[in-house]
Amino acid sequence: MKTIKSVYKIGHGPSSSHTVGPYRAAQLFGGRFPEADAYRVTLYGSLAFTGEGHGTGKAIRSGLPGAEIVFDRETSDLPHPNTMLFEAFKDGKPVGLNRIFSVGGGAIRIDGEVSDEERDVYPQKNFTEIADLCRERGISLLEFINEMEGPGLREALRPAWQAMQDAVRRGLAADGVLPGGLEVARKAKMLFTNCCYNESADVAMNRVIAAYAYAVSEENADEHIVVTAPTCGSCGVLPALLSYMQYDRGFPEEEILDALAVAALVGNVIRTNASISGAECGCQAEIGSACSMAAAALASLYKLNIDQIEYAAEIAMEHSLGLTCDPVNGLVQIPCIERNAVAAMRAIASVNLSRFLYQTRKISFDQVVTTMYRTGKDMDEKYRETSHGGLAQIYRAR
Ligand code: SF4
Repeated sequence: MKTIKSVYKIGHGPSSSHTVGPYRAAQLFGGRFPEADAYRVTLYGSLAFTGEGHGTGKAIRSGLPGAEIVFDRETSDLPHPNTMLFEAFKDGKPVGLNRIFSVGGGAIRIDGEVSDEERDVYPQKNFTEIADLCRERGISLLEFINEMEGPGLREALRPAWQAMQDAVRRGLAADGVLPGGLEVARKAKMLFTNCCYNESADVAMNRVIAAYAYAVSEENADEHIVVTAPTCGSCGVLPALLSYMQYDRGFPEEEILDALAVAALVGNVIRTNASISGAECGCQAEIGSACSMAAAALASLYKLNIDQIEYAAEIAMEHSLGLTCDPVNGLVQIPCIERNAVAAMRAIASVNLSRFLYQTRKISFDQVVTTMYRTGKDMDEKYRETSHGGLAQIYRAR
């Protein structure tokens, strides 16, 4: 498995695979062919169908100014659902070409190449191998991660945590309507400030966590800076829960950074053995993964043992299985924003169950990850970020 440091990527929303990945690909390609005087980028698959709503062209042009963008909605035999063909020209003649895949979470893969980001840091391939090793050596998951990643892990994760907190703060302060034409009003500020005098502690906790999740997800929908966790569409879940634990429950920042590391390891296992891309496996791969990561982070913050951490992550994913990706009008707003808040709350429920029932579990985290992947592959294409099915279709029909 690769380093966990590459799980969190700071970039413009609204979609890690549709804006962060294409932007990074554009920057890379421009750097390879600086002598070119014209560029053409052809988008295929999900990028062609929902790229306009997600702002893919804008993201590419900010990395490759002046590039011509072509949306090819006809070609269907693709090596990856998020395929891009980058072409460079000089005096009208082709000088370079790369086929690049946006593989989820802002990561890119260049056809026929292996990047530094893709080199393995962990010899273990899944959670079971990691957990077995930790038990054998009597070390915690966090100690294992620190050993594998080497010194300075907290410092490497601090910019991502800072960017997550910035998104929470900006989102809580913002008013208005999100772009794209759906007339979706921002709700984070209202959720955060409209406290009811007789509200119970439970209701207050859920309201505050939802407000944080809405804040980050609305910043993402507004194409502002967010952090993939593991994607832009699901970027509100983890910051919501960890912000609540730091601001409202008083956990120190250093422990929050450690929880981020545990969450990243869970995300790493998922992206290695399945997918974190809505275009590849539906929303279960995005929100389901974010929910698993948040549950593992919270369990680790509570100093639960490795079986409890694993079970919390497993419950969170198991009850996201089958979740389709059907963003209305191709915008990362409906159902995405609300879904982040619900997933943050589900992560807490997963930890509460795992705390008491971990010795009775029958399904491992690896098994549920495999199930998620197979379910995603079985899913009709219209439920994988094409905006052709589900809520997107019903809303259009209306
Ligand atoms: S429905 Fe889920 S996977 Fe699809 S864009 Fe929204 S958050 Fe991402």
